[in-house]
Amino acid sequence: MKLLEDKIRCDGQVIGTDILKVDMFLNHQIDVNLLDEMGKEFFRLFKDKGINKILTVEASGIAIAVMAAKYFNVPVVFAKKSSHKNVGDDVFKAQSHSFTHGKDYEMIVSKKYLSENDNILFIDDFLAGGNAAFAVLDILKQSGANLQGIGIAIEKGFQNGGKKLREMGISVESLAIVDSMNEVDGIVFRN
Ligand code: 5GP
Repeated sequence: MKLLEDKIRCDGQVIGTDILKVDMFLNHQIDVNLLDEMGKEFFRLFKDKGINKILTVEASGIAIAVMAAKYFNVPVVFAKKSSHKNVGDDVFKAQSHSFTHGKDYEMIVSKKYLSENDNILFIDDFLAGGNAAFAVLDILKQSGANLQGIGIAIEKGFQNGGKKLREMGISVESLAIVDSMNEVDGIVFRN
């Protein structure tokens, strides 16, 4: 998506070789018009999949998921990241590992909000190694809900999460795929 690639080129900040900071429009300050266009694009890509619910992960997936949900006219459920050991029995839970924070956490979703009747689009801001996505797959499996696709704002194509998920036959659509980046040469997008 050219609009997003242009925004990343203009306002994104490459940290080292593997972190892209997009606080200027996505992860801290939010460019609402850009996110609206992204929501519209996710709808175009997945509108024929019978989606009845969008699932995301707190916190940075929520804004994108909400914008997309307006077009699909469906609710958003966001998985919570819990550091509590005792979260009760009324939740689906899975272990994950945060790429940016470098630590493990438990992802939880109340059993009230996911069931085998759901056709899910999972949306997130970044796809790197796929840890968040694999925890979501685990939760969906527990709930019996059907994953219809994964919509990602920015995929770092040089990490292997996207490859692994596509090899499983999952429909993964990323609005921008970064093939390489560094602080000197900048960012190269996949065509
Ligand atoms: P994964 O679980 O696929 O390894 O990493 C994806 C998650 O880590 C996303 O939910 C996102 O919050 C965070 N993340 C991974 N890489 C980056 C990055 O380069 N920049 C930012 N801002 N977040 C990232």
